Amino acid sequence: MKIAVLAVQGAFAEHIDMLKKLGVEGIEIRKKRDMEQDFSGIILPGGESTVMGKLLKELDLYDTLLEKINSGMPVLGTCAGLILLAKKLSNHGETYFGTLPVTVKRNAYGRQLGSFNTVANVTGVGEIPMTFIRAPYIEEVEEGVEVIATVDDNIVGVKYKNQIGISFHPEVTDCLKLHKYFVENTEL
Ligand code: GLN
Repeated sequence: MKIAVLAVQGAFAEHIDMLKKLGVEGIEIRKKRDMEQDFSGIILPGGESTVMGKLLKELDLYDTLLEKINSGMPVLGTCAGLILLAKKLSNHGETYFGTLPVTVKRNAYGRQLGSFNTVANVTGVGEIPMTFIRAPYIEEVEEGVEVIATVDDNIVGVKYKNQIGISFHPEVTDCLKLHKYFVENTEL
């Protein structure tokens, strides 16, 4: 089984490593041709959503990825990846894929709490370490969206049909549980 990882900016290499540890091949998506390969899921990594959003269009990756997400391919968006999926951004004018019916606030923890670690439960996954880096959180969810993780009353993980969006970075911890959960979901 192969999982595609958007690899134009941000923490994509760490996701590829996590997949490798699970015995799954990660395919780096840098250009349109990379998507001609067979894969059964997509990871949108953390990084800078504005930069990734711009590169998605410039590199002509946007339409094909959107089509795959809309056609039900499992997708995991972490941090900036969650921002790329969100239908609404409360403090940013532009949206990107807009396929996940939630409202996300970018850099929601402000400067002082810019980065922190915690441990919390994710429904279906269990307790896992979470690393937040200039993280967004989810302010509102629309009907049909399942909240799978909260930290300090803020929503930091959601699931909607084929899409999982999380505020934190599991790929910088040594815990494989979330990736395992995603990979197992793509096999269904
Ligand atoms: N602050 C970044 C953004 O708005 C997200 C940070 C991250 O992915 N670690 O895109």
